[in-house]
Amino acid sequence: MKNECLFCAIVAREIPATVVYETDTTLAFRDINPHAPTHVLVVPKNHVRDAGELAEAGLADEVIKTAKAVAVAEGIAESGYRLVLNTGPDSGQSVFHAHLHLLGGAPLTLQMG
Ligand code: C5P
Repeated sequence: MKNECLFCAIVAREIPATVVYETDTTLAFRDINPHAPTHVLVVPKNHVRDAGELAEAGLADEVIKTAKAVAVAEGIAESGYRLVLNTGPDSGQSVFHAHLHLLGGAPLTLQMG
């Protein structure tokens, strides 16, 4: 793998992922360890570390719009879904390429830990 960053490698198609949606600046693919019937990650194609850098790069809007398009395509836009941006070690962020979790397809409970 040429890219040291896992999600840069997915964007570059160096490692496989189940891509469900793509724009010029974002890629959406299924989480390999889903926590809901629909669990998709939306990433910016350009490497930014976390939510703060995503906003500073002007990419937050596009990532959220992509998540909405995925929710519509998955048929969960009306029933509802959750968007999560883990940011930094205490949040549980494990991949330091910003990624928006899109979770839905069933009623979700709020877990704080
Ligand atoms: O927010 P956090 O950094 O913990 O989320 C990383 C997510 O990336 C995890 O939900 C994990 O299952 C997912 N992942 C993936 N494909 C990989 C490696 C991790 O979908 N190849």
